[in-house]
Amino acid sequence: MEEEQVGEEYLFKIVVTGDSAVGKSNLLSRFARDEFDHNSKATIGVEFQTQVVEVDGKEIKAQVWDTAGQERFRAVTSAYYRGAVGALVVYDISRNTTFVNIKRWLDELNTHCDTTVARMLVGNKCDLENIRDVSVEDGKNLAEEEGLFFIETSALDSTNVKTAFEIVIREIYKNVS
Ligand code: GDP
Ligand code: MG
Repeated sequence: MEEEQVGEEYLFKIVVTGDSAVGKSNLLSRFARDEFDHNSKATIGVEFQTQVVEVDGKEIKAQVWDTAGQERFRAVTSAYYRGAVGALVVYDISRNTTFVNIKRWLDELNTHCDTTVARMLVGNKCDLENIRDVSVEDGKNLAEEEGLFFIETSALDSTNVKTAFEIVIREIYKNVS
């Protein structure tokens, strides 16, 4: 664990992984800037964004990392995972292949990070109910099997985005305090 504690300040590195186009960058921009990009051209090259969250009266800096699109080439580097204390592993509820690939992303996370990393399975794009391809039940079951938190989100309409990050941040805080 490489959480940093400066006086009353905490800095938590959180990574966001999952297949290309599941909405990772938009989850991040919704969380950090309350913005959504309809024609998101992969990622703008920002490594991470920092958002301050308060937990139990403590100021916590969540440093959330974005993959910059490497996931397309299966080349997310170990530097990306280094020092992470939380992870959101994301699929798109309208594309089952992105759900099937979750196993691979969990394997990769396990290879690079120890088990104390707070993990959240995120089914994004829950606004696309009309073309849903992964049931809520399947998401819940996988999360239970793998010992992960589970939530469905929409970066488009903001559903649960803040909550997803806050649950992970609270869990990390619980682990370190
Ligand atoms: P990334 O490759 O995982 O970073 O995915 P992006 O954030 O770039 O999003 C990929 C595409 O999905 C873009 O066209 C987004 O506008 C769209 N998108 C992202 N999140 C949502 C969502 O919650 N709902 C819907 N309907 N579209 C989304
Ligand atoms: Mg992206």
